[in-house]
Amino acid sequence: MIANNPLLENFDYAPFSKIKNEHYKPAIKQAIQLANQEIDAITNLNEKPTFQNTIEALEYSGEKLGRITGIFFNINAAETNEEIQQIAQEISPWLSKFKNDLLLNEALFTRVKTVFQEKENLNLTPEQQMLLEKHYKSFSRNGANLSDTDKEKLREIDTELAQLSLSFGEHVLAETNAYELLIENEADLEGLPEDEKETAAQLAKANGRDGFLFTLQYPSYLPFMKYVKNRTLRKKMALAFGKKAFQDNVFNNEEIVLKIAKLRYQRAQLLGYKTHAHFVLEERMAKNPEKVNNFLAELKEKAQTKAKAQFNELETFAKNLDNIDRLEKWDSAYYAEKLKQQRFDLDDEKLKPYFKLENVIKGVFDISEKLYQLKFQEVDNIDKYHEEVKTYQVTNTQGDKVALLYADFHPRAGKRGGAWMTVYKDQQQKNNHNERPHISIVCNFTRATENKPSLLTFNEVTTLFHEFGHALHGMLANTTYPSLSGTSVYWDFVELPSQLLENWCYEEEALALFAKHYQTNELIPQNLIEKIKKAANFLEGMQTLRQLSFGMLDMAWHATNPSDIDNVKKHETQAFEATKLFPDASENCMSTAFSHIFQGGYSSGYYSYKWAEVLDADAFAYFKENGIFNLEIATKFKNHILSQGGTQDPMLLYKRFRGKEPNPNALLKRAGLLD
Ligand SMILES: [Zn+2]
Repeated sequence: MIANNPLLENFDYAPFSKIKNEHYKPAIKQAIQLANQEIDAITNLNEKPTFQNTIEALEYSGEKLGRITGIFFNINAAETNEEIQQIAQEISPWLSKFKNDLLLNEALFTRVKTVFQEKENLNLTPEQQMLLEKHYKSFSRNGANLSDTDKEKLREIDTELAQLSLSFGEHVLAETNAYELLIENEADLEGLPEDEKETAAQLAKANGRDGFLFTLQYPSYLPFMKYVKNRTLRKKMALAFGKKAFQDNVFNNEEIVLKIAKLRYQRAQLLGYKTHAHFVLEERMAKNPEKVNNFLAELKEKAQTKAKAQFNELETFAKNLDNIDRLEKWDSAYYAEKLKQQRFDLDDEKLKPYFKLENVIKGVFDISEKLYQLKFQEVDNIDKYHEEVKTYQVTNTQGDKVALLYADFHPRAGKRGGAWMTVYKDQQQKNNHNERPHISIVCNFTRATENKPSLLTFNEVTTLFHEFGHALHGMLANTTYPSLSGTSVYWDFVELPSQLLENWCYEEEALALFAKHYQTNELIPQNLIEKIKKAANFLEGMQTLRQLSFGMLDMAWHATNPSDIDNVKKHETQAFEATKLFPDASENCMSTAFSHIFQGGYSSGYYSYKWAEVLDADAFAYFKENGIFNLEIATKFKNHILSQGGTQDPMLLYKRFRGKEPNPNALLKRAGLLD
């Protein structure tokens, strides 16, 4: 045991500079012990279970553990190294065990259930009802109500499912890595940009080969399909991509897909649900498969005509340009890029001078001030994990502290890719005190150079707004309980604040605040704004249909009884029938490599991508009708959504904000699919 472990002392701001790697394991070990003692204190109580002595006590247990692991996993994502990764490997099983022990703790469940069964007589606030339900469900959805035999069955199914998902992923990875395409003649790569060629040449060299090497990894595959003129090669590459885990070899996933679908169904039935989708959707805004199916079908009906027209337009364009017979899957990205260039002539280099990082940050701060009266003051007295991290005290107009915001903008060797928002300290009301949250956003934006400041691509601008939208959800949180605070909401609701804020990036009135040329201070020209908007919706009908087809395939696997399905490809072809645009390739199959739903956590959840877009477009339309800086609408959004976290059903919150349920027409209009 290390004396003076800063993680085990009381702290408000994360004590980054004092933490050494050797502090993590003993601190986490001790925090687990402490959490277990807190749980024991609940189950050892001789008093009758009440909301306070059981549900609240459970909610507040493990707080120390939560804060320490919060710091650790954020560091592991934003500033990691081999030692930290090694620690993560070691502590992950400890944390899984802690969680499993908790969910299988029968004495604890008995108390929780007693309170749950008396919920009507307890005079609970809506937030307390939500908290009770959340804790009860975490046990019941894990089989706590089952007989011992059925519990055993459930564990067996879970073990088998975990194994199958793992194999599924390993097979997809093995098939992805097994394929390579070596191009020896540079002329075959006509159309491919020089830097992409350079990357492919380096890859060949690294593998001891001459020429240019391409793989099925996205950074290699996508540019190939988008730019390479040689149609035969594009076809070869696309067919290889579509065959993953669908070939006659040991990596074939057909059996696994069928087994996963059947086991998930059995699991759901065991727990009393009609299908796996019914089980999953119970804890989503959409609530049930009927609602999701109707949602997908309605969007399909409305988008289909435009999608077909766009397909025909693209096919005609390709025929005129290269005299091809019919548009195939391997033509789509290539001709779409060609047509886009012809129509918009919009490249990042033209836009970047208008998006200096410092200006964009100031822009998003100004917008937050106009909408939610927040003030951001950069401070230098807060401990941080890297000198590049910026810290801001966030206050309201009365000068009250709202939050602390950390922002970490540029890539480093120890940072994972992408962009995300995380929490170092939850907001909560405890002992009559409103604890304000510590929120962080982490990005990987282009750095400044010696003679140029950091200039963002438009995509990076929308990314910053997106993450800032999540941050607002965290910063403006105003709930009682920490597990219902901020972004702790149902999965298909969490992207509303983030995607909503992205809309301001396309508005002249908002861009006027910050999109100024970094050298001349000239405002971004109106014609560029128009181009950005139009380019964003380019071929959106086809894109929409494609997204819907994936959502429908997901539901076809999970919202039905799969016991009669015996052929993966046949089942998939039926599911795709309604949204089909391109001719089918019989040697290809999507399901066998659909990692989102058979490996990751997106089963019965793929629809959420479109669902979130419908929400953000509908919410933004409300702003648009009243002015994008309309204080009344913004205040409604703050009071009914941003501050409420997961304290109420999201549909209820949304209706309070909007006055009605979300309607897909705003999205269809924005995407140019509805006149
Ligand atoms: Zn997001």
